[in-house]
Amino acid sequence: MPQGTWRIKYYKKNLKNSPSRYKFKESVFEMSRGFTMVDYLSDIFWTEDELKFRKEVRAFCDKEIYPIADDIDKGPYPRDLLRKIGQAGLMGVHHDKEVGGTERGLSYEIIVAEEISAANGGLDMARMASTTLYGMPVARFGTAEQKKKYLEPVVKGDKIGCIGITEPDVGSDTAGMKTQATRDGDDWVINGEKRFITNGSQADFMCCFAITNPDVKSKKGMTAFIVDTKADGFSVVKDHDLLGMKSARVSWLKMDDMRISSDMILGDLGQGFHILMDELDSERTAIAAEAIGYARTPYEVAIKYSNEREQFGRPIRAFEGVSFKIADMAMKLEAGRALTLTAARMYDKGMKITKEASIAKLFTTEAAIAISNDAIQILGGMGYTTDYPVERFYRDARLMTIGGGTAEILRFLIQREVFKEML
Ligand SMILES: Cc1cc2nc3c(=O)[nH]c(=O)nc-3n(C[C@H](O)[C@H](O)[C@H](O)COP(=O)(O)OP(=O)(O)OC[C@H]3O[C@@H](n4cnc5c(N)ncnc54)[C@H](O)[C@@H]3O)c2cc1C
Repeated sequence: MPQGTWRIKYYKKNLKNSPSRYKFKESVFEMSRGFTMVDYLSDIFWTEDELKFRKEVRAFCDKEIYPIADDIDKGPYPRDLLRKIGQAGLMGVHHDKEVGGTERGLSYEIIVAEEISAANGGLDMARMASTTLYGMPVARFGTAEQKKKYLEPVVKGDKIGCIGITEPDVGSDTAGMKTQATRDGDDWVINGEKRFITNGSQADFMCCFAITNPDVKSKKGMTAFIVDTKADGFSVVKDHDLLGMKSARVSWLKMDDMRISSDMILGDLGQGFHILMDELDSERTAIAAEAIGYARTPYEVAIKYSNEREQFGRPIRAFEGVSFKIADMAMKLEAGRALTLTAARMYDKGMKITKEASIAKLFTTEAAIAISNDAIQILGGMGYTTDYPVERFYRDARLMTIGGGTAEILRFLIQREVFKEML
């Protein structure tokens, strides 16, 4: 199948349901496939194996995700789809072989994140919450037994993970966490609430952060636990009704005298804040890649539409008001990819990437909002309809200057790291 064919099929399928839908010519689809950037950057940035892998991921998305990408926006995504993603090896590129991964690193995870997000953002948010947000703390700090029991089934896609940091009273200020875990004999009893937890109501396991010593600062008094969501005392208050990311479930959770054994502690007692900070570096790099995906599809649709749509006797791309928007989109996408790959490569080399991951996430998420917004503008009235997926990507993209560290917090972190380096 020639590259890019899926998009022709994708829109053809939708055209059937909407006679008024704007019709692209197939030749236009052949013109732009979103392959250009990765192709010509191959020798400079991407290895041959990474390019080959990207094509494999695209082939999987063509078969399993694009045909249902619009439908699953009504949510939730079919449970079996996450299993298929796991079976295709797309949950474990950055995990060890012992837990079923392929040990290829974060530079491969960002390829998966971009490709699946270009089809459906909420689905990748759910996948990533399971394998990266939950998976990386377990991978990096778990014992061999914990990894076997609580990570391997997640990498296979058989079980779902989530991460519980945010609470009703605690968002950006994670050190102000209220959830408490109290020792009782060999057990720990956890009380508290976690809000906005991706996969929360679907998850089998949660990496849950709680205060275990309220007498010291959270940096020393916070501990990470693996929670089995079947434990007594765990409940789902509700799933949040969201603006976008409709294919995922994002939940408010409650833990009421929830008893878990001490072998569910992740890392050391009091190491929770360190684990949380460590997790955020990989999370932010992967979110940056997702943002490129949310931006890429609206960008491609806008290019094609502006070439086909005629006003005043010419294609609208002949007007600078339109074509200069495309130029800005291309610039932001390419810069964002380079920033994201830089952070991933550094992470894979074992380097500290707090600044680079923050820069990549901030740049790409603001770019994704701007690009999807401009794409709506280029499509005019059609951009405001659900006939095209552009509005869906705009709604999805809007989350990402909030989740995983707001734009304001990231600016704070970046300047802090810059001053640390320079002074
Ligand atoms: C769809 C969705 C999925 C999510 N998934 C997860 C998940 O899986 N797990 C999880 O733990 N959390 C998750 N979150 C929570 C997310 O990480 C938080 O929403 C985010 O960290 C911000 O916290 P908050 O919403 O409480 O906002 P607040 O911290 O209350 O901030 C509100 C506003 O104040 C600004 N602000 C706060 N402090 C400062 C400051 N020092 N300087 C300047 N401005 C400041 C913020 O930037 C923001 O604009 C998710 C959220 C959403 C919406």
